[in-house]
Amino acid sequence: MTVEPRQALVWDYAPAPEATDHLRLRDRYGLFIAGEFREPADSRYEPTINPASEEPIAEVAWAGAEDIQRAVEAARAAQPRWAALPARERAKYIFRIARLIQERARELAVTETLDGGKPLRESRDVDIPLAAAHFFHYAGWADKLRYGVVAREVAPLGVVAQIVPWNFPLLMAAWKLAPALACGNTAILKPAETTPLTALLLAEICQEAELPEGVVAILPGDGATGAALVRAPGIDKVAFTGSTAVGRDIQSALAGRDIALTLELGGKSANIVFEDAAIDQAVEGIVNGIFFNQGHVCCAGSRLLVQESVAEEVIAKLWARMLRLRVGDPLDKNTDVGAVNSAAQLERIQELVQAGEQEGAVRRSIACELPDRGFWFAPTMFTDVSPVHRIAVEEIFGPVVSVLTFRTVEEAIAKTNNSVSGLAAGIWTDKGAKAFQVASALRAGVIWQNTYNHFDPTAAFGGYKESGFGREGGPAGLRPYLRVVR
Ligand code: NAP
Ligand code: MG
Repeated sequence: MTVEPRQALVWDYAPAPEATDHLRLRDRYGLFIAGEFREPADSRYEPTINPASEEPIAEVAWAGAEDIQRAVEAARAAQPRWAALPARERAKYIFRIARLIQERARELAVTETLDGGKPLRESRDVDIPLAAAHFFHYAGWADKLRYGVVAREVAPLGVVAQIVPWNFPLLMAAWKLAPALACGNTAILKPAETTPLTALLLAEICQEAELPEGVVAILPGDGATGAALVRAPGIDKVAFTGSTAVGRDIQSALAGRDIALTLELGGKSANIVFEDAAIDQAVEGIVNGIFFNQGHVCCAGSRLLVQESVAEEVIAKLWARMLRLRVGDPLDKNTDVGAVNSAAQLERIQELVQAGEQEGAVRRSIACELPDRGFWFAPTMFTDVSPVHRIAVEEIFGPVVSVLTFRTVEEAIAKTNNSVSGLAAGIWTDKGAKAFQVASALRAGVIWQNTYNHFDPTAAFGGYKESGFGREGGPAGLRPYLRVVR
């Protein structure tokens, strides 16, 4: 293994930590049911920690079966009234939520970074503005639903259960809640165990927006809470984002029940660099593709496929760029790579990286001065990777890129499609015709050309194969929350 220290620039950045003194976080958060924060039936509270320091931030109630039942009852009672509102009135509430997210953007960004470990630059510039953009986008759809579903008459499904992961906590909550509410459903959202705080701030925002009680419930908890929620009587739909293993479990739990399902699961997405690409631009795209959010991105470009003729140049430039990445305090405005979200995730990354070394791939990691506490993993590149190595097949969900090479367009397509998942892909080429040819041959839900990890509320996002089914975003994102009446 090669470890090289990070190269400082001729000049370097002074520390620039974002202030936290403006936060108004409570010491304890209850469950958000029927418009109020409530004690959990079994009085269970668990701390949520900052993964960059391992310090507790707040205590959060975990929902059990009784709480879930109360939330479902409240959501059922609220749903007919919510659906009967004139659509433009429903839109106003959703619009108000978007505006309040903007007003509280700084507080939400800092909380997201504290609770989850992602760099402030990302939570401030990506997560929070995109979360607001999703609510704005779907507020606009509320009174135009039939135009989103090929001019058919549509109706809401009813009560939807939504489960989100820890990598984009507020943004995933927005992806789920905004279309569900616009379509006239009521929703029960379970945030991830390690990152419940911004969802709880969103609950406060629902109160501030005077959203009718019962339209949204926020029930933090662990996997057991999620498992109980999808099995709860009285729900009409489950929307899940997370791992393929849990997706499978949910699908089997729903078998034989009349409950609609959307699954957004994991991936092992390919970022394909052709010899005619603008190489410097591609290198920036590779860095963004795999080191954004510490690689905790379902569509991360974790398989880098480089045409053999330019492989040496791309690898050299990528390594030089990696040596400039600043890893450390997520609250520092200059940090590129923050903390790994949890001890469990760090262990998983370490295990797969070890497998990569044992199977014979060549590892290079940048050496960084890291804090003593917290969960950290240095940006890492593997070369000499064979398509059968675990690091070329399994999702690492960390700042680790596996480099493979190809000679022809056909080989690039075959290698990209040689995967059980099919969430996203990137194509780097100067030739428009080649980009279209390759994109049409790839089995991936989202394909970017000469960019990567570019998200927009108007564009549909979702997978092929084991990456799941159903789409979120844009008009396609309405369909999973509606039934066609005639
Ligand atoms: P995960 O273990 O599947 O957890 C996702 C959510 O499901 C969490 O809220 C989790 O609660 C809950 N959960 C766990 N076990 C459950 C069960 N048996 N029944 C119902 N809910 C359950 O996934 P993760 O490790 O947190 O997230 C990483 C994975 O998510 C990666 O594979 C990634 O690719 C995928 N992901 C996909 C997308 C996408 O849009 N396609 C986006 C982001 C992430 P706890 O937090 O308490 O475990
Ligand atoms: Mg946390």
